[in-house]
Amino acid sequence: MATERTLSIIKPDATKRNLTGKINAKFEEAGLRIVAQKRIRLTKEQSGEFYAVHKERPFYDELCDFMASGPVVVQVLEGESAIAKNREVMGATNPADAAPGTVRAEFAESVGENSVHGSDAADTAAAEIAYFFSGLELVG
Ligand code: ADP
Repeated sequence: MATERTLSIIKPDATKRNLTGKINAKFEEAGLRIVAQKRIRLTKEQSGEFYAVHKERPFYDELCDFMASGPVVVQVLEGESAIAKNREVMGATNPADAAPGTVRAEFAESVGENSVHGSDAADTAAAEIAYFFSGLELVG
């Protein structure tokens, strides 16, 4: 097992309901360290660029509108196998399928408004971290 970094986003449905602290507590309880964090507001264009991999999916436009609908908290989580560990803490995409105790089981409102994003592999984690943060902003 190796120490990894992964990009996490607390999505607008969660920031709107003031859940940032509760979600961060779940990351920290799982042994993930928040080594960078900022609250920003994405434009629809920036959301579209970030989620470009989903361009052909039927929900792409809805997803971009949603991600631009309110503030998000972008963060870098660090820890042993952080990419997979974060996906575990997040739970399944659809909250109806998410395991008990996961962020999405407890907080997500729907398959679209599902409270958190997490990188799914080492290459996407590196690209997504670089999209939002400079090296100087990552303080382990
Ligand atoms: P994950 O975020 O679990 O990695 P995906 O990469 O499949 O899931 O999808 C990216 C995001 O797109 C999801 O987190 C969710 O916000 C949105 N999404 C996925 N499937 C749907 C759907 N069927 N309808 C609406 N939005 C969706």
